[in-house]
Amino acid sequence: MIFNSRESQVRSYCRAFPAVFHRAVGSCLYDESGRRYIDFLAGAGTLNYGHNNPEIKKRVLEYLQSDGLIHGLDLHTRAKREFLEALEKFIFNPLGLDYKVQFPGPTGTNAVEAAMKLARKATGRAGIIAFTNGYHGMTAGSLAATGNTYHRQFPGGIWGNVRFMPFDGYFGPETDTSAYLEKFLDDPSSGVDKPAAVLLETVQGEGGVNVASFAWLARIEKLCRDRDILLIVDDIQAGCGRTGTFFSFTPAGITPDIVTLSKALGAVGLPLAVVLMRPHLDCWEPGEHNGTFRGNNLAFVAATEALRRYWSDDKLTRTVQHKSRRVRTRLRILTERCPQAEAVVRGRGLMVGLAFTQKPHLAKRVSQLAFEEGLVVETCGGHDHVLKFLPSLLTPDDLLDEGMDLLEQALHRAMEEKDAQISTLVAPEEMLDVHLDKEI
Ligand code: PLP
Repeated sequence: MIFNSRESQVRSYCRAFPAVFHRAVGSCLYDESGRRYIDFLAGAGTLNYGHNNPEIKKRVLEYLQSDGLIHGLDLHTRAKREFLEALEKFIFNPLGLDYKVQFPGPTGTNAVEAAMKLARKATGRAGIIAFTNGYHGMTAGSLAATGNTYHRQFPGGIWGNVRFMPFDGYFGPETDTSAYLEKFLDDPSSGVDKPAAVLLETVQGEGGVNVASFAWLARIEKLCRDRDILLIVDDIQAGCGRTGTFFSFTPAGITPDIVTLSKALGAVGLPLAVVLMRPHLDCWEPGEHNGTFRGNNLAFVAATEALRRYWSDDKLTRTVQHKSRRVRTRLRILTERCPQAEAVVRGRGLMVGLAFTQKPHLAKRVSQLAFEEGLVVETCGGHDHVLKFLPSLLTPDDLLDEGMDLLEQALHRAMEEKDAQISTLVAPEEMLDVHLDKEI
């Protein structure tokens, strides 16, 4: 196969889901032979409105037909104006938010790079506090704030000026890790200098669907405010409705100084990223964070249509809440029917995890078997021990149920396998998952 002979070893998702895909509609993928797969991966949380969402696609096609600019550097275009107006009208104004908008390169990692640079420039300080199990991207700056050793184990030691602190729940429910951070910040001999910013995900996606409590988020915000430290929320995976609300942080009552968005922002999988910043932080010089692809006008068109169509009221938020309950209830029933799997359900909105806390190897195996059954669902977490469900927010209930049926079959098959049955591995202490199943 040309993929094996020509494509770099770095390829990844295609190893876990080895089909040659050809079409995609709504919450389904189709391979070349026409076989259908229910898609609970959704472009790693990019396809919140489904594959080829017909309304959004229509606007994109109309724009193409009209010879609208596709590539625009950062020139003023009508498509960009309409996007900014929609962002203001449907998101900022109703929430009472006042952010300037920066268009970095169109990937999540570029937005995080820009956010970290901006925080450093605005404060004149170099340090960033990141959290255990955090994931912020694969370029040098954002990788420095990414916890996973597999990605970090690179020669050169270029991951400077980032300190890791324990995320909410890292030591179990009894330990308030915000107090731990506070102690480090306030102790002049802790070895942790006053940072430019604290960078966090409200729900850690790649790190294992670890949900920060609203109380913890509020404490972190206060801690930052009291010490003149900026708070950056990386909402690249949890934002754009994934957890129910457009921003994942608003239900916690916090207002970050800087926010990064990407993934589902481009609405049908078109690359787009933004950095939102409180106006007084906009200390960039012209072109200081430059890039050729800062004006993906096709993505602006798609994003604008998604904002107009899905964010003019709270219907989508209610839909996500309903579907979240449905998925979580099914997963709970599954864990009760299969107690020997010792799995735990957690998450917010349609960012749901099934954590195999005691038998971490099961997650990968269930994902493989689910794929054989016709379901695409990925694993995440420090030990790849969590199945992560990221269906499109518009997945019809019957497809959600069908996906859960396939998952159940896969789990039963995995449990029947000899190696799963006789697994007597005692999980090492760091493997023990201490995150509570948090309700929202
Ligand atoms: N930040 C978060 C929270 C993410 O989940 C991701 C990707 O999964 C990134 C940043 C990096 O985004 P990208 O892969 O587009 O560079």
